[in-house]
Amino acid sequence: MNSAGKLVIVGAGPSGLAAALEATKNANDVVVFERSSHLGGLSRTIGFEDCLFDIGPHRFFTKNAEVNQLFNEILGNDQIRVKRLTRILYKDKYFNYPITPLNALLGLGVFNSIAIFVSYAFARVKALTFPSQLKNFEEWVTGQFGSRLYRIFFKTYTEKVWGIPCTEISDQWASQRIKNLNLREAIVRALFGSPKKVIKTLIDEFGYPRMGSGQFYHKMASIIESNGGEVRLNSPVERICHQDQVVKSIVVKNNNEEQIITGDFFLCSAPLTEIMEMLEPAPPSSVLEASRALRYRDHIGVQLKMRNINFSDNWIYIHSPEVKMARLANYRNFSPSMADKDDISPMTAEYFTFKDDAVWSLSDDQLIELAIKEISKMGLAQLDQFVSGFVIRSEKAYPVIDQNSILYVEIIR
Ligand SMILES: Cc1cc2nc3c(=O)[nH]c(=O)nc-3n(C[C@H](O)[C@H](O)[C@H](O)COP(=O)(O)OP(=O)(O)OC[C@H]3O[C@@H](n4cnc5c(N)ncnc54)[C@H](O)[C@@H]3O)c2cc1C
Repeated sequence: MNSAGKLVIVGAGPSGLAAALEATKNANDVVVFERSSHLGGLSRTIGFEDCLFDIGPHRFFTKNAEVNQLFNEILGNDQIRVKRLTRILYKDKYFNYPITPLNALLGLGVFNSIAIFVSYAFARVKALTFPSQLKNFEEWVTGQFGSRLYRIFFKTYTEKVWGIPCTEISDQWASQRIKNLNLREAIVRALFGSPKKVIKTLIDEFGYPRMGSGQFYHKMASIIESNGGEVRLNSPVERICHQDQVVKSIVVKNNNEEQIITGDFFLCSAPLTEIMEMLEPAPPSSVLEASRALRYRDHIGVQLKMRNINFSDNWIYIHSPEVKMARLANYRNFSPSMADKDDISPMTAEYFTFKDDAVWSLSDDQLIELAIKEISKMGLAQLDQFVSGFVIRSEKAYPVIDQNSILYVEIIR
């Protein structure tokens, strides 16, 4: 056994815990400080009235063999394989996601489908004839799928999630998230089955912990502790002290008392903008300005215990512009162990927002009422199927990757 020294980690979310686990395997001295009272960060699972809810649906899928191995190793028999069914709801019709040509043809009608193929062919010919530098999400998706399909299946939902026009979202985000998927491949798949290569968004099955996403992180923390590491909850880190470009210590608030923690290595998984504010001495003003210009999307999970829900999707993407809700997840369709009774579905209605949007300032009761009203409007359930609910608000849930953020991150680096 060899020890390289003491590792101090800020945050007991997936990154902090995974790093702590690896380090304890090599007998290092490891301590994790978590400001909240729970493990798992944004990937945690919450218990409510004998049901389990993620803050929003989480699926486990990676092409990285090491991460897969970690997942298998930690979860063992608590890993289940979930059949993926996620559809798009648009104008009262369901469409498969990933889009399949026959299903889209039936849903959109012959006229619309012909128009989609014409606009797709036009986009491809244009891309081949006049190859141009793609700059934003709209240009990237239009180039891959044509403008008509972009308007139906990408624009509304993406703008709901990010709260900014698609022309302001970076093409890098599009190429990461929708990588390798284009209409030609979707048609080949529909006609001839899956190609050998697994396409990132075209998977039929994913892994999931039996008792919710957070179970993975609880198990990880137990292993860290049995390896000799320490995870301290309710321990907010307030300052990161550095000298000569090296972090020397952190200051943790504990029961209203400040504690200075020294170490040999430090890893901080707090949002980048918060790290910049914690640095002592403070970074140059150009760095602080760049950091303060970065934006995050906040997330509201309206958690609903519902009765007799009869859709079998893991979640539904709600493209319909008439409702504010962006996704509706049903955890019974992830793992039946998430529900306390056979007729109960623990569900999350998701709203993506900025903290200064009107929806963020609604009370919990108003949010539950809004979610139920929208679910009824879409015909997915009625008020009398609602049993009870609660709300989880997560600040800084997704970093906004717009045209400027890439430049700001470069300045910070
Ligand atoms: C609704 C939703 C659905 C998602 N679905 C998926 C999915 O299906 N698949 C997938 O792979 N990913 C998904 N993600 C993304 C995934 O949740 C995140 O990538 C992951 O949680 C990031 O882990 P992290 O440890 O880096 O950060 P976080 O999860 O944010 O954890 C950071 C931790 O640090 C703590 N912390 C912050 N500041 C301090 C401080 N000053 N002192 C002490 N502690 C601090 C926080 O309390 C938190 O516990 C989803 C995210 C959301 C919001």
